[in-house]
Amino acid sequence: MEGQANNFLEDIIEKHLEEGKYDSIQTRFPPEPNGYLHIGHAASICLNFGLAKKYGGKCNLRFDDTNPLAEETEYVESIQEDVKWLGFQWDQLFFTSDYFETLYGYAVDLIKKGLAYVDDLSAEEIAATKGNMEKPGVESPHRNRSIEENLQLFANMRAGKYQDGEKVLRAKIDMSHPNLLMRDPLLYRIKHAHHHRTGDKWCIYPMYDFAHGQSDSIEKVTHSICTLEFIHHRPLYDWLIDKLEIYPSHQYEFARRNLDYTVMSKRRLLQLVNEKHVSGWDDPRMPTVSGLRRRGYTPKSIRDFVASMGISKRENSVDMGLLESCLRNDLNKEALRRMAVLDPVKLIITNLPDGQNEMVSSENNPEKPETGDRKIPFGREVWIEREDFMEEPPKKYFRLGPDRVVRLKSAGIIRCTGFKKDEKGEIEEIYCELLTDEQVGEVKVKGTIHWVNVSTAKTAEIRLYDRLFTVADPAKQEGDFKEYINPDSLVTIHTAYIEPCLAEAQVGDSFQFLRKGYFCVDKDSSEKKLIFNRSVGLKDAWVNK
Ligand code: ATP
Ligand code: MG
Repeated sequence: MEGQANNFLEDIIEKHLEEGKYDSIQTRFPPEPNGYLHIGHAASICLNFGLAKKYGGKCNLRFDDTNPLAEETEYVESIQEDVKWLGFQWDQLFFTSDYFETLYGYAVDLIKKGLAYVDDLSAEEIAATKGNMEKPGVESPHRNRSIEENLQLFANMRAGKYQDGEKVLRAKIDMSHPNLLMRDPLLYRIKHAHHHRTGDKWCIYPMYDFAHGQSDSIEKVTHSICTLEFIHHRPLYDWLIDKLEIYPSHQYEFARRNLDYTVMSKRRLLQLVNEKHVSGWDDPRMPTVSGLRRRGYTPKSIRDFVASMGISKRENSVDMGLLESCLRNDLNKEALRRMAVLDPVKLIITNLPDGQNEMVSSENNPEKPETGDRKIPFGREVWIEREDFMEEPPKKYFRLGPDRVVRLKSAGIIRCTGFKKDEKGEIEEIYCELLTDEQVGEVKVKGTIHWVNVSTAKTAEIRLYDRLFTVADPAKQEGDFKEYINPDSLVTIHTAYIEPCLAEAQVGDSFQFLRKGYFCVDKDSSEKKLIFNRSVGLKDAWVNK
């Protein structure tokens, strides 16, 4: 966010600090551990941690774990890993479940103040008596139970005397309030379920509205930032804090960030995983932080992307191309250059001796001269890309064709003297001569192609990814969003040839394969077989589509 105009939250915070409303700010990132984090969460992380950092405040990581059925320790661990990987460190780590006893006490306080009651209506009955925008709701027949009776019934709820759904605790506010969320909202429900941290200790669980603001308050969060869909919850957030007379945290809303050509809700991402449309939460096509990491995204590229999106009060969807260009910019500066041939055809340099390699020098990264040069073996037979030769090249084609000259990157200039086809009519071998220094002076070379020396080449598998969906907004289409999965979102090249020095590459290392894009080593690699993911091409292939 540096170097950019202030966003509306920065304006608010600066005003608060100036006025002395707070000495320092406290924010939090509050994920529910019911899935892996996605790029939208990354936006929220950068925002909450970023604001704390910018204004010398603190940011907590709080797991909003009030729904035992969906939550798992696996998710808790992956979320912590992702936050750290993005480059942030929380001040304190909390779990809403740590506050269950305190929250229970708050509920008892409300009952004692005559501001909450135990209701016997079923979920359907409560929904049916809520009313709507035109019509006020109907008060429950149990609304005016005595404080003593409510205290007893609530204690019974906790003690496990009832079945799921048999009773709930509701706030006693106003059944004709213009905001439907203020019509005696639910505070607690019964759920006999095993919780990933509290085990079987509890069979009643607080609702989001009775956990979130209270947890903010316990942690003395000054600026509780959430997404826009909670704007109508704010009056309830304030009402509860006011009636409980606890630390006055305040809620601020910003618009969700969405990315096109993907889906972002954890529910949908979970379907993709469970139904095996992808290999897992970290499939390189997923918009999850772990998927992007495996794809080869860097923390900086994601932070840059989030900063360039900015924050606003209006929902919008961001072009995937912007995310890709942030990665390209980062890797252009950082990634070492290597050569790899993805669709090989053999080229024989007839005036070089057989069985002999020389070493040629090539720069590791011209954007970063301190990375120096590397030595690459070069000899009589090299692999080149099939598309870099044409039997009858058109005018503007500056690569190889009969009698044409081209530069082999870092090795010299060659002239094509002939070629051989197989019985199917496909080019099998191309013959060339390496030009002498004298000859080089006489030719004009327009094209440079990459190559890999045959006798020293290593092989690799290469996974080429494209967008996971064929439409920009799969979640908004008619029917099932999974009907719009791109069948060609993964294309595997089983045998590509790579420079020998790549054999030492480690999982996660990124390289620019000259003329081909940025690639990183996938975790499926083994000693026997290296596997590369294409992180992003060199140019935006979608601009022309
Ligand atoms: P989803 O709907 O994808 O499951 P969620 O909002 O239920 O997401 P939480 O774990 O509750 O997921 O979110 C943690 C924090 O991240 C919340 O403060 C939430 O507002 C924020 N967040 C979630 N999705 C986005 C998004 N697309 N853009 C910005 N912030 C988001
Ligand atoms: Mg949520």
